[in-house]
Amino acid sequence: MRIGAPKETSRGEARVALTPESAKQIQKLGHECLIETGAGLAAGFNDDAYRDAGVTVVDSADTLWQDAEVVIKVREPSDTEAARLRQGQTLIAFFWPAQNEALLEKCKAQGASVIAMDMVPRISRAQKMDALSSMANIAGYRAVIEAGNNFGRFFTGQVTAAGKVPPAKVLVIGAGVAGLAAIGTATSLGAVVRAFDVRPEVSEQIESMGAEFLFLDFEDSQDGSESGGYASPSSPEFREKQLECFREQAPDVDIVITTALIPGRPAPKLWLEDMVAAMKPGSVIVDLAAEKGGNCDLTQPDERIVSDNGVIVIGYTDFPSRMATQSSLLYATNIRHMLTDLTPEKDGVINHNMDDDVIRGATVTHQGEVTFPPPPPKVK
Ligand code: NAD
Repeated sequence: MRIGAPKETSRGEARVALTPESAKQIQKLGHECLIETGAGLAAGFNDDAYRDAGVTVVDSADTLWQDAEVVIKVREPSDTEAARLRQGQTLIAFFWPAQNEALLEKCKAQGASVIAMDMVPRISRAQKMDALSSMANIAGYRAVIEAGNNFGRFFTGQVTAAGKVPPAKVLVIGAGVAGLAAIGTATSLGAVVRAFDVRPEVSEQIESMGAEFLFLDFEDSQDGSESGGYASPSSPEFREKQLECFREQAPDVDIVITTALIPGRPAPKLWLEDMVAAMKPGSVIVDLAAEKGGNCDLTQPDERIVSDNGVIVIGYTDFPSRMATQSSLLYATNIRHMLTDLTPEKDGVINHNMDDDVIRGATVTHQGEVTFPPPPPKVK
């Protein structure tokens, strides 16, 4: 089949769903690869690199959408792109079906099958396709780099002839995929790192990375966990304990990275105005939950603001796109693995097997039907 990647049309999006390397692997499955001219440039891949990898470079988005039988993308389609979809065509992209109902209906009406990369079930077998994790890993890393770029001191402590420098103190709130990446990056830069999560089972992972887990003095320490490894909203008593702990930390820490999310809900507000006011001038907060409303009271999505007392609050929502080469390499690999599972015979024929838990879970429209939400997966 012809697998094609158009240039992303969302403003500022620098990633691309096909890299020269992933194209070589996709061709081994018996497929042909197409790319719109210039689609990889912002991620560091020029047309010649694709040509060298055996990819056909086409000169317009129109040609790409017409010629490709499977369109692979990073962002959900714009209205114009959705209107280009046709009967029997397959689209593979991030889609966020719960938030994009009208778009889902439109894709259904166009007769296309849509595989949403954000709906890939988080079971062991599907880890290779888990684009949410690969992007969260990059966001966690980049959050620390961004903090370092805005912080006026070293991360690591030093004793030099010119004086003694204390290490920076970093607090990471939420230790899922992004939080753990942030912890790893901050410790490797030499900072003193503390972390908190409502799921106490992550304490071992945090400590194994050289950070300190902030335990709460609370009877039911399991308060925030829910089945499936995700968090649930905290009880008022637990939340009070948590805020008390953060209030103690606020005057002491230099950098706060917040990553706390609860599936299907706005981000919990955890770093309140009075905590920002208690921080030292020049301290930095990077709020990775900005897109979901933010964990910090002061966060403004996509903005860098400075509080009255000189604390920098960063609410960028495009950290993976700010590292477009790395993100594209990992995302294109996730897509390539999805195509591998869709091409079991490696004969260039797509088998959209709705009995496969992973393919079924990620498919949100198929054969003229909306197939979201999916039934729970059978396999763990
Ligand atoms: P997420 O982005 O939904 O949330 C980020 C973190 O915020 C979570 O660790 C959550 O516990 C934490 N959090 C929520 N409310 C909080 C609060 N009030 N205070 C502090 N922390 C709070 O999570 P994620 O990164 O997508 O990962 C969630 C889980 O899924 C983890 O257990 C992870 O290991 C697991 N996971 C499994 C797979 C797999 O394939 N098996 C893949 C990826 C992630």
